Amino acid sequence: MRVYLDHNSTTPIDNRVVDAMLPYLTEQFGNPSSAHGFGASAARAVEASRVEVAELVGAEPRDVLFCSGATEAINTAISAVADGKVVTTVVEHAATLRSVERLEERGVDVVRLPVDSQGLIDVSRLAEELDARTSLVTLLWANNETGGLFPITEIASICAARSVPLHVDAVQAVGRISVDLRETQIDYLSISSHKIGGPKGVGALVVNPSSTLRPLIVGGHQERGARAGTENVAGIVGFGAAAHLARTDIARRQDSIRALRDQLETEILARIPGSWVNGQKGPRLANTTNIGFPGIDGDELVAMLDAAGIAVSTGSACGSASVEPSHVIRALTKSYEAAKSSVRFSLSHITSPTEISYTIEYVVRLAKEIQRTTHKSPNVSHL
Ligand code: PLP
Repeated sequence: MRVYLDHNSTTPIDNRVVDAMLPYLTEQFGNPSSAHGFGASAARAVEASRVEVAELVGAEPRDVLFCSGATEAINTAISAVADGKVVTTVVEHAATLRSVERLEERGVDVVRLPVDSQGLIDVSRLAEELDARTSLVTLLWANNETGGLFPITEIASICAARSVPLHVDAVQAVGRISVDLRETQIDYLSISSHKIGGPKGVGALVVNPSSTLRPLIVGGHQERGARAGTENVAGIVGFGAAAHLARTDIARRQDSIRALRDQLETEILARIPGSWVNGQKGPRLANTTNIGFPGIDGDELVAMLDAAGIAVSTGSACGSASVEPSHVIRALTKSYEAAKSSVRFSLSHITSPTEISYTIEYVVRLAKEIQRTTHKSPNVSHL
């Protein structure tokens, strides 16, 4: 049996998405900028996808800027507001962490808010940091490693009241919780196709029309001059199809996903003494659990589960090539050991009860085997 429980890294592409894309990889090959029928048909497809993506997040189509993925969207938003002071958190995705480091190298003051043991920031501390010099607040909506949710609606009203631009990395939130820009005033929103059943290498920055935008990539006039380069037409069409499915289909299934996630969590916690869930008490996505296993090297457990056909991860996919344990789990637990011992399981609407039962059996068996062979004490809890 093969079980994929790494949906926060990427999601399998839906067959309906592939069907929508295929014509744009074959006979509909036109360049959307061309002044003939081939071009016009590609341009129409791009615009239809823009409508779908806009609807997914409650925006106007003209506010959707297609790009190569959320990493580019995040880089674009952060570099658009490059002076004064930037407020962010210590648990951001690498795209944000590295982008703000660059600003810092250029002399911008960066404030990184800490999180508590549940992964939450102190919103009043964030409010205190907003002053006349603050040019941007940038933070996640849903954390990719723990599923923890920041109170974006509350943060958005604080930023709006002080006229401080807000960028939100909503990559893990869209399709899983309501992300509606008509209800929450967000200046820049980054989203990614491959986290919602669409193809990789395509994403969008949704920009409030009153916000400034400095193109990161210059050249031709594509995307109304905001992002140069011939559009990834098939990718954008796939993103549009995935956005349509996410809006009409996937979001409704969160309750059954939560039930399976809770079963996985409850049984593992009951059967592995001292195991814990990182960020369990805070608000979080229904599909994610990040479990700490005392006395266990998380990478070893991930490798053994992989050999049993079960795909899970330690940290984020972008960080998993590094030997350092997750900066997110370290920030929550204040412990290197706890971060080394933690493993993320991320489910989706395609996860079945059989897959969860199979995973529970293997996780319990293999975790106990590692504990036995490494002779570590299984009764140290880090929270
Ligand atoms: N932000 C978060 C929270 C993510 O999980 C990811 C994907 O790993 C990204 C940004 C980057 O997205 P992309 O792969 O589209 O560049």
